Amino acid sequence: MTTLPVIAPVPDAARSRRAALPPRHLADLDLPARQALVRELGEPAFRAKQISTHYFGRLVRDPAGMTDLPAAARDRLADALLPTLLTPVREMACDDGATRKALWRLHDGSLVESVLMGYPDRVTVCISSQAGCGMACPFCATGQAGLTRNLSTAEIVDQAVYLAGVAASGVVAGAPPRLSHVVFMGMGEPLANYGRVIAAVRRLCAPAPEGLGLSQRHVTVSTVGLVPAMRRLAEEDLSVTLALSLHAPDDELRDELVPVNQRWKVAEVLAAAWDYAARTGRRISIEYAMIKDVNDQPWRADLLGRLLTGRLAHVNLIPLNPTPGSRWDASPKAVEREFVRRLRAAGVSTTVRDTRGQEIDGACGQLAAAEVSG
Ligand code: SAH
Repeated sequence: MTTLPVIAPVPDAARSRRAALPPRHLADLDLPARQALVRELGEPAFRAKQISTHYFGRLVRDPAGMTDLPAAARDRLADALLPTLLTPVREMACDDGATRKALWRLHDGSLVESVLMGYPDRVTVCISSQAGCGMACPFCATGQAGLTRNLSTAEIVDQAVYLAGVAASGVVAGAPPRLSHVVFMGMGEPLANYGRVIAAVRRLCAPAPEGLGLSQRHVTVSTVGLVPAMRRLAEEDLSVTLALSLHAPDDELRDELVPVNQRWKVAEVLAAAWDYAARTGRRISIEYAMIKDVNDQPWRADLLGRLLTGRLAHVNLIPLNPTPGSRWDASPKAVEREFVRRLRAAGVSTTVRDTRGQEIDGACGQLAAAEVSG
């Protein structure tokens, strides 16, 4: 018998932590709210657009560089709208400079991580939505320490804006300088911090100077499968890609690998995913970590194939990144190839995720900042 971890009720955890949220930042607000705030500070409303253009448009975060603002106003506006949210503790690079991981300290000492990945045709940032995570998936490093707190909207957005600035400086080898993609696949369960994550998505996709101007289609929100939140997301009128961390096609195994499955079963979570696809026209990305002798059997490939045949879905197999002390390992390549072959034979589009960032513990499921800080 397997002992299943108990999942903390997320809304309670979030409520009790509200006090720890950071000071307000312009990325928490839409443009009209920024204008109202600037007027309250006794400045003309157009200053909101000016400071937003620096932050979102030019990726400038140091008030000293905002020379079109009168010096006195500059400091007052920066104090009110641009408090420091993320203090870099460590930045690491690997894959010949194409992957960089940033470890940040937040205002209350919490640590979170983000990863920047350059490819010949795009630049992707993987961002965190919570400090820690309450979902307790046993193969994921972040899941081991539990949830510390939700991130604010601006703490989420600022990871992308900061790293967009790093990309723009040209340091990401062999990649274009402009950030194009954001994936919510860092620390945390995005749909457990629903309101702030949705606001962050809106800000990332609003055209500058209101936001960062990304295409909604280039933003991916990944979830363990919080069914009510998935259904709510479908009603938001957003064209973001939904990634579902399935990891097993049967309830018996998924109850263990993704404990929230004890609440919402495979059939329910897939039904919510298909409704999202029908509503948005967007293909669902099915995430499946390949774990040796746990979920990689040919019969599970066939069962997964039957569940997905004819659906608007793509399978992303992720070679397991073993976490420290884990009893699990990645599937052998031959087993992985057979799994892919069976899914494709069932007509299911399937790829194997590249394993960027392994040397810097920046690969999927390796983000565990609390351990790094020791
Ligand atoms: N909470 C969200 C997003 C965070 S993780 C979710 O679960 O979807 C992003 C992806 O990495 C998820 O699919 C997650 O299951 C996967 N992952 C976690 N730990 C991993 C590991 N050790 N090896 C490979 N993938 C892992």
